Amino acid sequence: MSLKEFKSEIVVTGIICLCAGLFSMAHYMGWLEQDYSLLGNLARNLYGPSVRQEMNRLQAVKEISPDIPRITALCYHEVRPDRKRDPLNVSPELFRRHIREFKKAGYTFIDVDDLRQCLAGKASLPEKALLISFDDGYADNYNYAYPILLDEKVSGTFFVVSSTVGNVNRMTADELREMQANGMAIGSHTVNHESLAGMADTEIEFEMRRSREALEKLLGRPVYALAYPEGKVDKAVLDKVGKYYEMAFLASVAPEKKQTLYTLQRYGVFSWNDRIESIFRNR
Ligand SMILES: [Zn+2]
Repeated sequence: MSLKEFKSEIVVTGIICLCAGLFSMAHYMGWLEQDYSLLGNLARNLYGPSVRQEMNRLQAVKEISPDIPRITALCYHEVRPDRKRDPLNVSPELFRRHIREFKKAGYTFIDVDDLRQCLAGKASLPEKALLISFDDGYADNYNYAYPILLDEKVSGTFFVVSSTVGNVNRMTADELREMQANGMAIGSHTVNHESLAGMADTEIEFEMRRSREALEKLLGRPVYALAYPEGKVDKAVLDKVGKYYEMAFLASVAPEKKQTLYTLQRYGVFSWNDRIESIFRNR
């Protein structure tokens, strides 16, 4: 090899290294996160889904709300193969893809039982903890989501409306008991699924107490987690919830707002969230 050839090889190698360096920096900085072009897809295939945006949010949570466990919580509703255009319905294929992408991104799946253990100091919280939850207790949760969770060996939390258990298109008591026996966690979504915000004090207490009692009777074990219908709360609700529950969840995320154990934020997941990165843009 002549000196001239050697020099040009050095230059070519240098350019390749520079491009590779720029590419990995772009990935690391999150510049390709919302990029569905060739480069974005290449980064995703090489490095897995980019969750940098969510890790930044969790860092902010640590600063704004140091007293709460830092978790990524998701709120699903229906999981069925039809009704692809219903924004609150995620198809079973998409649901499984989400789970696999979160696994690929290094998440550990937790449910409210795990969270309770962490709060009691009996377990430590993984760095990337993902809590998957389902609101309303739809029959498809048992028919489609639950078998996928079992198959993928992860657990989920199901927030059930106590007065609708066994109704048309809702899960039955036997189904809930079976899910609980196989590692799923069940929480309350009140008695009647009406927004608690603005309700009279006695009604708020009824919705909180009665749903917990009914579910505990049905499940034979304590129920200590609540998801607010429509994610709505007001001062009266927040004043009372601690009397009946150990933790309660909203249905949206506001990174700038302080959270407590009774205003734990969840990302709503919708039919258009084809990639997990897009879930982190839901508010
Ligand atoms: Zn609901």
